[in-house]
Amino acid sequence: MFKFGIFLLAIAAIFGLQWYFEATTTEGQCPGCGVLQRGSNTEPFNCGMCGLELEVKDGQFVRYMKSGQAPQTPFEQMRDFAKQAAETKPPPKASPKASSTGSKKSSSAEVVDVEECKRAFFGEEEDMAASGEESTGASRICILGAGPAGLGLALGIARRGFSGGVVVYDQAEDHETAARYNPDRSYTIDITGHGARALDYLGVTHRFDEQLIKFRGIRILPLGKEEPWTGPGWTGSRGDICRALLRECRENYPGKVKFVFGTTAEVQDAYTGTVVLKDGSGVLTKSFDLVVACDGAGSTARTKIMADVPGFKSEKASLTNFCTMIHFDQNTEELDPSWLYVLNIDPPAVAGAINGDGGPRDPKWFCQIGFRCKNEFKDVPDAIKYIKKTAPKVLRHVSDKELAAFAKRECVHIGRAVVCNTFNAGRLVLLGDAGNPFPPVGQGINAALESAMVLDQCLAAADSQGRDFGWAGAKFTETWLPEAHAVSWIAQRVESGNLWKMGLVVLAVLLRISVLSDAKKDDRKWSSVAEAAKARQALGFRVAHRLVQAAVLGLTFFAGYKIGKKRLEG
Ligand SMILES: Cc1cc2nc3c(=O)[nH]c(=O)nc-3n(C[C@H](O)[C@H](O)[C@H](O)COP(=O)(O)OP(=O)(O)OC[C@H]3O[C@@H](n4cnc5c(N)ncnc54)[C@H](O)[C@@H]3O)c2cc1C
Repeated sequence: MFKFGIFLLAIAAIFGLQWYFEATTTEGQCPGCGVLQRGSNTEPFNCGMCGLELEVKDGQFVRYMKSGQAPQTPFEQMRDFAKQAAETKPPPKASPKASSTGSKKSSSAEVVDVEECKRAFFGEEEDMAASGEESTGASRICILGAGPAGLGLALGIARRGFSGGVVVYDQAEDHETAARYNPDRSYTIDITGHGARALDYLGVTHRFDEQLIKFRGIRILPLGKEEPWTGPGWTGSRGDICRALLRECRENYPGKVKFVFGTTAEVQDAYTGTVVLKDGSGVLTKSFDLVVACDGAGSTARTKIMADVPGFKSEKASLTNFCTMIHFDQNTEELDPSWLYVLNIDPPAVAGAINGDGGPRDPKWFCQIGFRCKNEFKDVPDAIKYIKKTAPKVLRHVSDKELAAFAKRECVHIGRAVVCNTFNAGRLVLLGDAGNPFPPVGQGINAALESAMVLDQCLAAADSQGRDFGWAGAKFTETWLPEAHAVSWIAQRVESGNLWKMGLVVLAVLLRISVLSDAKKDDRKWSSVAEAAKARQALGFRVAHRLVQAAVLGLTFFAGYKIGKKRLEG
């Protein structure tokens, strides 16, 4: 009887503890990483997954704010900050002599180095203008970086017939004269729903049909599955994509945009739109009414506003995604260039085609081999042994020469993400990877192109409503921030060094609920795809939680029944 009493007491204690636990804590999703968990109702706590400091407010998890006066949701805080940033006046220590007048006034140029530099620089610009290909006149808009985001925006502005002058600076060589591929870096990039919609808006799909390989889907060989893509889509290298955008700008909108390659541009002052330009011949400082930084994942403009603009915040994530490229030069006729091939899942080995010297009909194949950490092979036999053991399907497509090159190639970290709380400050706007870099899952260029479309729409709205560029920048942040955060969240579901995450990715593909497939669709906003995935995740956690609870209770009852039965029999 005594034992039976203890057993009943234990059951009562379990229920009591559960009641206390549920009364003093709340189940919710971390607004940073979306993981479902329980947190204290009264004390701030850290997310178990991403470490973000959280508190419970009105039954929901929000970022912990010491003042307790923060707006309700992180997005509201970000929107408010974006508006403030656009309205903020230039700080008193704005750069000397640089223009700090309203955004509709003309821009000014200031020499910071020797007079010869100025002559050399203007000489180069005049040469370009004299060729008849590039535009002349002072520019009000500066686009810093001629990647997909910068070129997409330049094309959008050119198409609208903007007459204020647009100049694009890029430190690299002109895409049209640069080498078509580089085996150390070349990789295939798919343009699907979001990117295709942006290209349609930019009126450039005809050129992609001519210049790029059509994208038809993904073949996941280890699972024996195909994920066909039936909408408009293309595949090619970043260079192939940039060449198509640049050609469209130059041929169909001659003189609308000035392109200056081989010039490094750095933002000196976000509030006055001052940019420092450097090329082989000197240094020059110029001010613009609008500076759009499209300088990629390692953006110096982002670092600059992080340091100078009060309230600008960014959160970094570093995932264990590393990769090394290998060039396929054997039996490539067995592969269809319109398809992306997943040859292996762990480690990931994904191969795709880009344009060769003869264009889309002369494809070159590259395969990305994933690693969980920065990898270095001792020698060529070590690399061969590794590929034979982990991704043997790759061997069919590579010669000894390419294996030797692979063994020596640098393994690159591709798992970096930065999430910013705004994309605009003063006269500066961050676009594409510059404002929202995330690990590659087939959406980086799509996001870069779509963000260019959204910014162009905001500029068009500002123009038609008689508003200034500052308003357009704030509108862009308001519109794009939720999408940017959502696509970054989606990308961070994939991590080659995290077996749990990779297992979930495979399971989702098998169950046809893959967030990566949903992210490709043009009729789904990334924010809605991420919300649906978070809801599924929450349901999964809840079901798992209840199953564990039921199992514990079942076992306890079973044990109690056995003890009671024994006792009665005894
Ligand atoms: C391995 C890998 C695979 C990928 N696969 C895909 C995929 O399948 N699908 C997809 O959509 N995306 C993919 N991506 C991502 C995609 O390449 C990027 O997201 C995209 O290129 C970002 O475009 P962007 O214009 O914002 O920046 P970028 O393409 O990085 O362009 C930035 C430009 O700015 C210039 N620049 C930088 N600093 C300066 C400076 N100070 N002054 C002047 N110029 C400067 C650079 O020269 C460059 O031309 C992949 C990326 C990697 C690494």
